[in-house]
Amino acid sequence: MRTNRTVVSLLTFPVVLATLAGCAAGTTHQASGHDAGAAWAYEGPGAPEHWGDLADEYRTCTTGEQQSPIDLPAPQGGAALDVDGSGPVRGVTADNGHTVQFTADDGATTVVGGAELDFVQVHFHAGSEHTRAGRDTAAEFHFVHASESGELTVLGVLAERGAHNPAYDDLIAGATAGAGRAGTVDVEAMLPAKRAFATYQGSLTTPPCTEGVRWIVLEQPVELGADQLADLEAAHVGNARPVQPLGDRTVQHAL
Ligand SMILES: [Zn+2]
Repeated sequence: MRTNRTVVSLLTFPVVLATLAGCAAGTTHQASGHDAGAAWAYEGPGAPEHWGDLADEYRTCTTGEQQSPIDLPAPQGGAALDVDGSGPVRGVTADNGHTVQFTADDGATTVVGGAELDFVQVHFHAGSEHTRAGRDTAAEFHFVHASESGELTVLGVLAERGAHNPAYDDLIAGATAGAGRAGTVDVEAMLPAKRAFATYQGSLTTPPCTEGVRWIVLEQPVELGADQLADLEAAHVGNARPVQPLGDRTVQHAL
């Protein structure tokens, strides 16, 4: 599991900063002057259109041909995803500078399409990263899973403004807590009731934009209360990479 967590930890801010500092060849001017653009962001010199130029290890962000997110087709209402969570999962929620992320303790699993995967972490983007027929939603949650061999499967759950959703209370409490907050989430309870989905091969949506990620985005959004969305947006808003070209890929509706 250490290998898997190393891959996923690339999403976290301190690791990215450490990597960049290592590339700065003796300069310490990361936050000023010419190297200022090296820190990735969602606007300004570190904005998504520049990610591939910020560091050698981010080049895939520009040169990759299987990048995420993408614009998905309008909902098809096809077969439901076969998914089973393992009940309440303990972990810690913290703000990594780009999102608020709940990182699960070791041992959490989710069975997806009959395969038992490690549930590693869940985080959010506001608004959504994936769009459907060109339209985004208020937010999107990424439930990051890893297989035994370290391959990532991300379950994407779109969110719209509506009724208060108690399954998200614990994660959102972490968004307003500041420092790390121990808590518990229940993956299956956070999924929509209807489980039709779209799936395709893509990438991390943050630098280093590593490919080989299997995406499964559920078609039905969950609802979040206005207060819940406000709490998320108070932590981060606009932390969404624009959609990327589909290229030669196809979007499917079965595993
Ligand atoms: Zn994400």
